[in-house]
Amino acid sequence: MQINQQTGDTNFPLSKMEAPIFKVLAETAEKTNTEIYVIGGFVRDLYLDRPSKDIDVVVLGNGIAFAEKVGQKLKTNVSVFKNFGTAMLKHSDLEVEFVGARKESYRANSRKPIVEDGTLEDDQLRRDFTINALAISLNPSSFGKVVDPFNGLEDLEDKLIRTPLDPVVTFSDDPLRMMRAIRFASQLHFKIDQMAVDAIKSQKERIKIVSKERISDELNKIILSKKPSIGFNYLFDTGLLELIFPQMAKLYGVDVIKGRAHKDNFYHTLEVLDNICETTDDLWLRWAAILHDIAKPATKRFEEGHGWTFHGHEDRGARMVPQIFAQLKLPLNEKMKFVQKLVLLHLRPIVLAQDIVTDSAVRRLLFEAGEDIDSLMLLCNADITTKNEYKIKKYRNNFELVKQKLKDVEERDQLRNWQPPISGNDIMETFGLSAGKEVGILKNAIREAILEGDIPNSYKEAFDYMLQKAKELGLNRV
Ligand code: ATP
Repeated sequence: MQINQQTGDTNFPLSKMEAPIFKVLAETAEKTNTEIYVIGGFVRDLYLDRPSKDIDVVVLGNGIAFAEKVGQKLKTNVSVFKNFGTAMLKHSDLEVEFVGARKESYRANSRKPIVEDGTLEDDQLRRDFTINALAISLNPSSFGKVVDPFNGLEDLEDKLIRTPLDPVVTFSDDPLRMMRAIRFASQLHFKIDQMAVDAIKSQKERIKIVSKERISDELNKIILSKKPSIGFNYLFDTGLLELIFPQMAKLYGVDVIKGRAHKDNFYHTLEVLDNICETTDDLWLRWAAILHDIAKPATKRFEEGHGWTFHGHEDRGARMVPQIFAQLKLPLNEKMKFVQKLVLLHLRPIVLAQDIVTDSAVRRLLFEAGEDIDSLMLLCNADITTKNEYKIKKYRNNFELVKQKLKDVEERDQLRNWQPPISGNDIMETFGLSAGKEVGILKNAIREAILEGDIPNSYKEAFDYMLQKAKELGLNRV
């Protein structure tokens, strides 16, 4: 950062603003005698060295008219959104959005503000956080000057999320900002200013006026951050999680009976989530980590002489997935099915890793997991959160064995996306049957025999086996 010793102005190192579009913007500003600034997330990300492709330009005057002038100069199309008073154009891989400087005021029951024309300062005041309110001048006389009325640069240094206005007002006006504060904290590894945390606690009920889709967008951004536990800890501590995703908040807590405690499933889940984030960027695999133990509170029992058990939590958890997805307005498609499958199967490789690994158990797992076997193995590896060095070593060693076995069995039997070699139609044709119970029995028997390793995975052996089984059922070939 460069500071002009005479004026105290901060200048942005211009070498960082090398994209040719800035020159075009500055020239148009000069020619049309219009004051313009690049503002918001793009400026923040320049300082943080985060690549950003969206440039927001605030125009003191008519944003759409200015955008059209730039479009003419670049001979490029401008998309105009009259209702919002904004316009957008694309230049190489950048998207530039133009908006007139505005002043906003809010009513109690809506996130939608009343908008009037305003000054640059008004426009900065309507921004959610000090680090998102930074502006850089694109005007020839002050090109590169940083306009920072709320000490956003200091907050960037201190890694702090702070609101320009009283945070109670900021969050009450637009409660989505509570989610955004937590999302930025998680993405940037920042702390939220204590006054803002307190304001979220006091305004949390206002989240109810925000659409589920907007909430999930932010939630997904938290989940896609490098260490989502940062965001989830804030969500939980402020009480927002209880309101937007109560099933997850229920994971919190430890019960003790007769001196025996179980682990806190909330913090365990966060550990699994952070673990899996080190190996995958896949949002849905990360969701599977969040939901893998979701039914533990519902299945928790204390059994005399045994301690705490969570029997069937994988099955019950899988059945909870569609409802949770619907409630959070997440897609009810194959992504949901993928998460559901992983929740259902999440204990299987671990169980295999604890026992002697038989070929048939591995075959069965491969058959059920299909093409998602690699994701399942990542989830299970992330699920090993014990602090006991001996156990970690043991699980990891056995896990490697399971992986090797999976590889061997797969190479030999090719069970990924496997269909048994004899179809229902083959059975019906061979014995002159119509669809019915016997077809199911034979189909099942063939599949089981292959998975158990009683017969090889080939058409001929399966056909012979079918004939033998059919005989036992009193069926004859036609
Ligand atoms: P990202 O691109 O990662 O979402 P961003 O900060 O660029 O981050 P946008 O949603 O594109 O986020 O918003 C651009 C700018 O608009 C923000 O930097 C902020 O100044 C302002 N802004 C966005 N949403 C709000 C809001 N709900 N309240 C106040 N200001 C907002």
